[in-house]
This record gives sequence, C-alpha cells and structure tokens, in this order.
Amino acid sequence: MSRSKELFHAAQERIPGGVNSPVRAFRNVGTDPLFIASGSGSHITDVDGRDYIDFVCSWGPLVFGHAHPRVVEAVRRTLEKGTSFGAPTELELRMAELVCNMVPSVEKVRMVNSGTEAAMSAVRLARAATGRDAIIKFEGCYHGHGDTFLIKAGSGALTLGVPDSPGVPAGIGSDTLNAHFNDPGSVQTLFDAHPDRIAAVIVEPVAGNMGVVPPAEGFLSGLRDICTRNGAVLIFDEVITGFRVARGGAQERFGVMPDLTVLGKIIGGGLPAAAYGGRSDLMDQMAPIGPVYQAGTLSGNPLAMSAGVAQLELLEEQPPWDELEKKAARLQKGFQEILDRAGMALTSNRVGSMMTLFFTDKKVEDFAGATQSDTRRHAAYFRAMLERGIYLAPSQFEALFVSTCHTEADIAKTLDAARGSLEGVKKS
Ligand code: PMP
Repeated sequence: MSRSKELFHAAQERIPGGVNSPVRAFRNVGTDPLFIASGSGSHITDVDGRDYIDFVCSWGPLVFGHAHPRVVEAVRRTLEKGTSFGAPTELELRMAELVCNMVPSVEKVRMVNSGTEAAMSAVRLARAATGRDAIIKFEGCYHGHGDTFLIKAGSGALTLGVPDSPGVPAGIGSDTLNAHFNDPGSVQTLFDAHPDRIAAVIVEPVAGNMGVVPPAEGFLSGLRDICTRNGAVLIFDEVITGFRVARGGAQERFGVMPDLTVLGKIIGGGLPAAAYGGRSDLMDQMAPIGPVYQAGTLSGNPLAMSAGVAQLELLEEQPPWDELEKKAARLQKGFQEILDRAGMALTSNRVGSMMTLFFTDKKVEDFAGATQSDTRRHAAYFRAMLERGIYLAPSQFEALFVSTCHTEADIAKTLDAARGSLEGVKKS
C-alpha cells in the first residue's frame, strides 16, 4: 500500500474524512488524496516520492510557485524574532500600504485570517452601513462557509433562500437571496421584489468556484449601477482574482469599482491571511473608531504578513501578468488543438492565469451551464492526468492556476499528458 493510502487511512481515524477541508478528500474524482511532502517552484512531491507538475498552487496563492526563496527568507527572518505579539507591527502597515496602492478601490484595509472571515466581515459592515439585513449572492459563487453564504436558492426565482447545510438556521435563509451570474436582470428583479431590504450584492467578479466563468460584457457595470441606484454596497470577492487577473485584480481588469473588496490567497503568500477593504467612510465604521465589531487574535500575524508582503513586493518588482497570460494562453491553445484533433467539443474558459476545462460542448456562462458538465468524464480525466504526473484541482468546479514557475517543458509535458488522458476519456 502506498504511504499516502496508509496516512489517509490513519487520518480518517482522527480527522473527519481524513482532511481539514472537504475538497481535499478527492471524493469528486473517485480516488484517494495524495499526502504532499514538499513543493518547489511548479512541482510538488508526495510522501511516496512521486513528482507532479502542480496546477493547484495551494488553490491559487502561489503565483511565484512553491517555496520561493524571497518568501522563505522573509518568513525565516521574522520567525527568529518571535511568531506573534497580538500588538501592532510595522509589517502590518507595509501590507496595508501595498494593498491600498495596488487595489484601485481600496483606501483602507483590515487583515483577517481566512477568506471566510473576510467575506463575513465585509457583509457585516455592509449591513451596518445600510441598516438593512438582506444580501444578494450568485448561484455557483463561493464566499467561504459563513452561515449567510451557505444558502441556496428557494423553489422560485423570487423566494428566499434555504440552508445548504444542516446547522445553518432556517431563519438565515430569509436574508440571503440568490441571483444568476451574468444576469443583471435577475438582480434588478430581486431589488424590485425586496425594496429597501438589500444591504449588499456580493460577487466573484470572475467566478472561480463553479469552474472559471468570465463576467459577460456589462454584467459587473450593471451590478455597479443597480447598487448605486438602490443604495446597496457592492462587494467584490477577489479572494481568487486579487493580484492574479491583474495587479489590481478584476476591478482593474474590467474597470468596475466595488465599494468593498474581499481579498485572500495571494495576499498571504501561502500563509493564512486575508483582508477586506474599501472606501474610508465605510471602513471607518469598524471598531475601534466605529461601532461595527470585528477582531482577531492572530490577525495581521507577523509570519503571514512577512510571506504576504514578500509576495506583493515581488509582484511590484517583477510584474508577472504578461508572462502568466502568455503561458496560460499557450496551455489553453494546446488543449484546444488536442480537442480539435480528437474531435471532442469541450469548453475551456480562461481569464488570465485561471482556467477550467468543462466536459460539455455548450458554452458555460453561469451555474446552470457549469452543471451541464459530465463530471464522471472529468473524474476519469483527472485520474488519468494524475497518473501521468499532472496535479489538477480534484473537482470539475474549480480552476487550474498557472504560476510564473511553470516552464515551457512543464506546459509541453502537461499537453502530452492531456493528449493521452483525453483520448482515454473519449473511448470510455
Ligand atoms: N471567496 C472565494 C472566492 C474563495 O475562492 C474562497 C476559498 N476558495 C473563499 C472566499 C474562502 O476562503 P477561505 O477558504 O480562506 O476561507
């Protein structure tokens, strides 16, 4: 038995499902997870000594690959001076200055520990600022596991949501409304049906959690207009897109400014850090100067800040976006050529260095489109790629991430593996 399998069996005795976050269990792809021993650049090595080209990149944060020397050195230097003080440090100021300089709509920012915490806090602030309780989110978007977000659409388009997980109180559903991604009309309809009740619209400006779905022309600006007209707060959840699809995230790339922005992943350089920020008049409503409470013992932790600052400084010194765009475009083009030659009409969606191959020949423009994908074939493809040394996200409804460390040779090897894997899937 492989060491990964041994560890997974043992882990299931002591950790629910053997993992600390569900998607890691590989349940969607019908196999057992690999236990990872180390990573370097674009590669990871599992506990059995097998090497993989990694396109998960810790689910997005590692834009310069694993164990970048600058990040490692920054953390090491900080570590030697103590791990946590629960008091202000200069690193937090440096981080805040970098974020405010890079993300166009952010004037002030508060650090937290996870994307979940950041999204929950942004919604609390929006509710406090508007004096309203309801929020609108989009089917297929993910904003962490806060109660408010674990609400799916009710039976009719205008009905209130219902809990998506046991343990979420039914009453919470009355304050979460679900709209359709890429359909501003569905948002307007909800505002019309619930006048003066909606505090915020929260959206992934490029959806990443139903697989990659780009915003259609006019979608984000439509949300901006509707929120402005109705006195609601527009929140962009840029946990994935922040610093990835452009220096200033999706708001820069698509030229639409939200009121609040949720950040995570790249901001922590692979350590636990996230943030929410936006206009000063909103952010100044937070404690200790305002009445809205939010706090955290480990918020702005020195180790997390040093990793994050090192990575953001690298972004400023060595802007990677052109290179990422080119590499990811080459990968997408390579996939398309393989599909054309094999006579398979699959859909690939890409924005910058995030991409998803959907196992459907239809366009994927929203959640309904994404769920048309044949997940059984995706699972077979995933397993075939893994066997060939390519580590992809173990779910159809996730993105592939390209880092600056992915080389020409990595891309060529990945396309070779895809050729074999997709031919196998076609025959199955
Ligand atoms: N928002 C988005 C867009 C995400 O992709 C995620 C996590 N993948 C979160 C929020 C939640 O972040 P975390 O897992 O750090 O709580």
